[in-house]
Amino acid sequence: MNDRRSALAFARELLAGCRHRWLPRVVQAGTDLVLPPACNFCGRSMDRPGRQPLICEPCRTDFVDRTLPACLRCAAPVHPFDQGPDCPRCRKRRYAFQAAVAMGIYRDRLREAVIRMKQRVHEPLTISMGYLLAETMSQTIGDHQPDLLVPVPTYWLKRLRRGVNGPELLAEALGSRLSIRTVKGLLYSRRSTKKQGTLLPVERLRNVRDAFGVRRRGRLQGASVMLIDDIMTTGATASEAARTLRKAGASRVTVLVVARGVGADHPA
Ligand SMILES: [Zn+2]
Ligand SMILES: [Zn+2]
Repeated sequence: MNDRRSALAFARELLAGCRHRWLPRVVQAGTDLVLPPACNFCGRSMDRPGRQPLICEPCRTDFVDRTLPACLRCAAPVHPFDQGPDCPRCRKRRYAFQAAVAMGIYRDRLREAVIRMKQRVHEPLTISMGYLLAETMSQTIGDHQPDLLVPVPTYWLKRLRRGVNGPELLAEALGSRLSIRTVKGLLYSRRSTKKQGTLLPVERLRNVRDAFGVRRRGRLQGASVMLIDDIMTTGATASEAARTLRKAGASRVTVLVVARGVGADHPA
């Protein structure tokens, strides 16, 4: 049952980005007859069939965390009185990106969603999260509309083992919703790196140093790029990716992630 629901949800999500607008509606009507649409996270039936993303209201409320304002530089939650160009978490850090935005904080059910997004069976959830990211971030992005979306790459061996590329799926869903071009493979991972979550902040910087390379750098000349990832914690990976892109000609790099990790025990 779950497999069937998952396959149908995947078909729906894929077709939602289809250029032929009639095709998703036809497939939607067909799949709704077989199984009513359900939330891609908790499985609850959805009241509004065909409504993308397939994330129910309670899950949406949990995922989109706007209870505290966020630091404009590193996306960490800050006290309203502390809101400024940076925050205590990032004040002493040097980033190659200009700004970072997160949909929510890496905790509770959003943490569970990010962990699931690393598994192939949960691809429909990842695509839905990309649409949710587009919905919730469209106003923020509106001020800094990038020319290109670039997913933070994973080393090919790790990608092969997982069988899924979460940042790429997120970027494609987001790009299709906001009409921004996603460029896959432009930024690539040159080598395997240790899990950032197992390292101290200073070791994380060393771990990712020169870990990325750029192909087709002509596309980057003067471009404003938005890096897409599932999670950012210290910002070391995103900063190294941004440094590589700027060295290759990008004029501006911002970061958009699903979740901002704020503790020491986070995976990336
Ligand atoms: Zn739900
Ligand atoms: Zn900050």
